[in-house]
Amino acid sequence: MKNKRICILISIMIALIILVVGLWNRTISVNPEPVSSQNFEVEQENQKANLEISSEDNPKIQSHIVCIDPGHQQRADMKKEPIGPGATKKKPKVDGGTIGKYTNITEYQLNLDIALKLQTELESRGYTVVMTRTTNDVNISNSERAIMANEAGAEAFVRIHADGSDIQSVQGASTICQSPDNPYNGALYESSRRLSECVLEGVVASTGCKKRQILELDTMSGINWSQVPNTIIEVGYLTNKAEEAKLVTEDYQQLLAKGIADGIDKYFKENTTGE
Ligand SMILES: [Zn+2]
Repeated sequence: MKNKRICILISIMIALIILVVGLWNRTISVNPEPVSSQNFEVEQENQKANLEISSEDNPKIQSHIVCIDPGHQQRADMKKEPIGPGATKKKPKVDGGTIGKYTNITEYQLNLDIALKLQTELESRGYTVVMTRTTNDVNISNSERAIMANEAGAEAFVRIHADGSDIQSVQGASTICQSPDNPYNGALYESSRRLSECVLEGVVASTGCKKRQILELDTMSGINWSQVPNTIIEVGYLTNKAEEAKLVTEDYQQLLAKGIADGIDKYFKENTTGE
């Protein structure tokens, strides 16, 4: 009898609580929380869908980190730095680069113009891009640029430069990497050489420029300080009238950016398939 009464009392109390809570919820139904949590769920679903689509599209290229270094800067810094970790030999931190013989374009500006187009191109292909500089008014030495690539965990360090020569007929693109005997990072030779081949091929295919050579040099600070696969692409000659005229145009710079990106794509594609 007593238990039954207690049961009824508890039931009434629960009913009252439900009623009060129900009324309370109705009075605060302007609270946006249920709507926002619904949005959140929808957002999460969308994000999930995007992730699924993008990783299906290109599962191997998605997460690669590329560091782009637009060579030189507005003002040279001729103070010296060691050409490699622990080296006694020293070279200027960053020199002035070349100047267009016919248009007076500065190499540092041209390098930056191409590098920014390459950044956009690579990001549109899903890469994570780290830039050593995005303006000309900086002072970053060649070793510091390589260290930026190392610290960013870059999987490729791509340096953009333009060439010059006393012989005006010389034209075309080259790439540069270390030799297998490089005392600082010779172990990176094979990957750097392949990156150099891929990028040079990409540029020649995209622009139709003359294919010159892949140079192996152990005297360049920006190469020697790099602990990641690296290449310098010399996009063409600012001392050849016809080539310089092309290099200063937006269209040709875009072709160069596409060609370099194609080369980087090829490099990573071969890498991940174990070739
Ligand atoms: Zn240069």
